[in-house]
Amino acid sequence: MFVLEFKVKAKQQQYQAINDAIRTSQFIRNKCLRYWMDNQGVNKYDLSAYCKVLAHEFKFANELNSQARQASAERAWSSISRFFENCKKKVSGKKAENAVLGSPQVKQFSKTGYPKFKKFSRSVEYKTTGWKVLSPKTINFSDKKGIGTLKLKGSWDLGYFNESDIKRVRLLRKADGYYCQFVLSVEVKEEVKPSGKCIGLDVGLSSFYTDNEGNKIDNPKFLRKSEKSLKKLARRLSKKKKGSNNRKKARARLAKVHLKVSRQRKDFAVKLARCVVHFSDVIAYEDLRVKNLVKNHCLAKSINDAAWYQFREWVEYFGVKFGKITIAVPPQYTSQNCSSCGNIVKKTLSTRTHICKCSCVLDRDENAAINILKNGLSTVGHTGSKAWGENASTLMEEILSKQVIFVNQESPPQIGVRVSKIAWP
Ligand SMILES: [Zn+2]
Repeated sequence: MFVLEFKVKAKQQQYQAINDAIRTSQFIRNKCLRYWMDNQGVNKYDLSAYCKVLAHEFKFANELNSQARQASAERAWSSISRFFENCKKKVSGKKAENAVLGSPQVKQFSKTGYPKFKKFSRSVEYKTTGWKVLSPKTINFSDKKGIGTLKLKGSWDLGYFNESDIKRVRLLRKADGYYCQFVLSVEVKEEVKPSGKCIGLDVGLSSFYTDNEGNKIDNPKFLRKSEKSLKKLARRLSKKKKGSNNRKKARARLAKVHLKVSRQRKDFAVKLARCVVHFSDVIAYEDLRVKNLVKNHCLAKSINDAAWYQFREWVEYFGVKFGKITIAVPPQYTSQNCSSCGNIVKKTLSTRTHICKCSCVLDRDENAAINILKNGLSTVGHTGSKAWGENASTLMEEILSKQVIFVNQESPPQIGVRVSKIAWP
């Protein structure tokens, strides 16, 4: 499974409708839980049937799409079944054997994660009905909650995927606004043999990326070209009188160039990412945050960062698709540390060569790429095998055996790792 996330742009009343849908979903989940508590031997299918009863009984429950109601019941069931699994694992064998679904004595095992009522749900989940993708950046929700059509903001293009690949759609409320997630089933259509290669990528302004062997990929020419014309058109737009027809025309021209660039950028990102992932087993790269990217005022840098960010998302996508491992490494110190001895060698942005006392002389970006790969490989061992499919875990063993070559055992860097967006094994 692979999750695409977009920020949602909508009117205030639409946000209220999303809140209402989230509340209803929580209500159904809690009601199902209560039903399970009060009745012996309730199973998954009983909860599913109970959704219908709730829809009859409560108007606001009926307003929510029927599959979204089912999804809420499934949420209740997943916390119930998790509880039973915990009982089996943690509680002594005798009690676990006696643990019959829905039996009251089981409910007393408080330490085994007895399911709780939710008070602050922040999401509602639709399955394959109740919504439709209208264009690459708009989605319509058609149930009676009145959410309507939402604009989506993000670098992904939904047009690239088949609608039948979208298995679930979630609406989420976060601290900084509302989000829409698409859960895609990514089939591994292509059998890719392990290449035995691990690659570290360093992003820079002088080249699109440099890998740990010193190979550089140039910035695509269209980025430079479009940077120039974007600048020119933006300047022209700013000179036109507000509200005038000329201003409208200028804005349309600017929007057209933006669209063209974004298409080219996507094309470039998809092709390059596919290639990189195809020929490597492990791909480590810097974990650059969107927030930091937006803050940057230098146009060349921001265009570059956008391209890089999209590239990274596609690397993660193909990582899931081809069963490869992708690791985002925090960017701290990757350029300052010596990749050979670990000493800090301070550099300004203009220092292009890494020269260390230990006689290590490397291209600045190559040195960084090696550090990124090292950091990435040293964290693979900490991720645990939970998130991985079967293929990946055998691959992981291979990698762990290789790790010895790469990692300095004395001081493994303490860093977090974000493995590709895999959800719901
Ligand atoms: Zn050194």
